[in-house]
Amino acid sequence: LSERLGSIFDKLTKRGALSESDVNEAMREVRRALIEADVALDVVRSFTDKVRSRAVGQEVIRSVTPGQMVVKIVNDQMVEMLGSDAETIDLNAAAPVPIMLVGLQGSGKTTTTAKIARRLTDREKRKVLIASLDTRRPAAQEQLKILGEQAGIDTLPIVAGQMPVDIGKRALSAARLGGYDVVMLDTAGRTHIDESLMAEMAEIRRTTNPHEILLVADALTGQDAVNVAKSFNDRVGITGIVLTRVDGDGRGGAALSMRAVTEKPIKLIGVGERLDALEEFDPKRIAGRILGMGDVVGLVEKAAANIDAEQAAKAAERMRKGQFDLDDLAEQLGQMAKIGGMSGVMGMLPGVGKMKKQIDAMGVDDSVFKRQTAIISSMTKQERKKPDILKASRKRRIAAGSGTRVEEINKLLKMHRQMADMMKQMGKGKGMFSRMAGMA
Ligand code: GDP
Ligand code: MG
Repeated sequence: LSERLGSIFDKLTKRGALSESDVNEAMREVRRALIEADVALDVVRSFTDKVRSRAVGQEVIRSVTPGQMVVKIVNDQMVEMLGSDAETIDLNAAAPVPIMLVGLQGSGKTTTTAKIARRLTDREKRKVLIASLDTRRPAAQEQLKILGEQAGIDTLPIVAGQMPVDIGKRALSAARLGGYDVVMLDTAGRTHIDESLMAEMAEIRRTTNPHEILLVADALTGQDAVNVAKSFNDRVGITGIVLTRVDGDGRGGAALSMRAVTEKPIKLIGVGERLDALEEFDPKRIAGRILGMGDVVGLVEKAAANIDAEQAAKAAERMRKGQFDLDDLAEQLGQMAKIGGMSGVMGMLPGVGKMKKQIDAMGVDDSVFKRQTAIISSMTKQERKKPDILKASRKRRIAAGSGTRVEEINKLLKMHRQMADMMKQMGKGKGMFSRMAGMA
């Protein structure tokens, strides 16, 4: 994809902001890549809409090509949609914590039950009991028992002829009596979604009240992924997704589809048949795979570093010329928030103890960043360029627009003046912000 995008944009001689028609052309390529990766069509549409609104009008910085710029926006949006924070299995409940696994037949529920049990035993030092509630497939309960033996995990003894709901109840009481921390319930599947399966799952849920209900789904699931995820989520209510066969050839578009329709996190991925082939979900890696760009992460990180450095250098240049306006301040606030707040930045620089005190005295801390940014974004373009024109009535309008008070606006303006003065002085020597630009 990155090559294809590159070639589209290399044709453009004109640089500057990304135009709507450039972006539309790029989105055609993105759409094709996502469909190849088996992302569901509705999800493709909402994804490209989001990227389009983020990309149009974005200025292309000198150090990257327009193609790279779009790739970065596409990648960021993808990582965001896949879920930027790693989420793991939640065991925060009274023991024994019930965990239920659901999914279609052959998706990997039984294998994943044993894998998770092993992981919780090894890493979290939990005592885990596993039970198969699959009375549908012959020998399904024996399969879990064998896996349990391999993994050194206790399995609920098999009682012939018992119904799934009764096995569930028995598993819970056995776990309680045996002093287990976690009890895992492996369930039956079907080759496709049907009402009897949903009814059975809903009934098991009702009687065992699981703390986690994990949908186990094959990464190779194509356009059906949305239907599967939506059915299980609507009828049974899932708390997370485990994607299996990520070791296969599939591009993993199902991850994006299922996450988008359920808004539930992908918690773990299966990467092989062995019981230790279970990993944490890494949105960056899957994003690169869905987009079909092995090198995307490195490329994007380089672009991001360039973008930050270039913005900081631009700001530093303006400051040296004494042109530090409120737009620059807003940009600085954004950068600061990213790298750990004003005091964090100041603390990293040698010989700025005195200035740090000054800044602390201005009352800039991370919690204030958001309100200050809100104030600045409620101003007109002209007001941001020439803060001097801000008189009482304008301030009242801005306070109302940003949900703040006039005093806070005054404080911000005072801070801006002090910073602008400080910048000018520092600009005479080698400035803090040019050093910061080097750091970014
Ligand atoms: P269930 O019907 O949902 O219980 O599925 P099973 O757990 O019985 O798994 C079906 C098949 O998929 C078995 O042969 C597993 O070894 C295999 N399998 C499960 N997870 C993975 C995985 O992450 N990667 C690969 N390559 N195979 C897997
Ligand atoms: Mg099974």
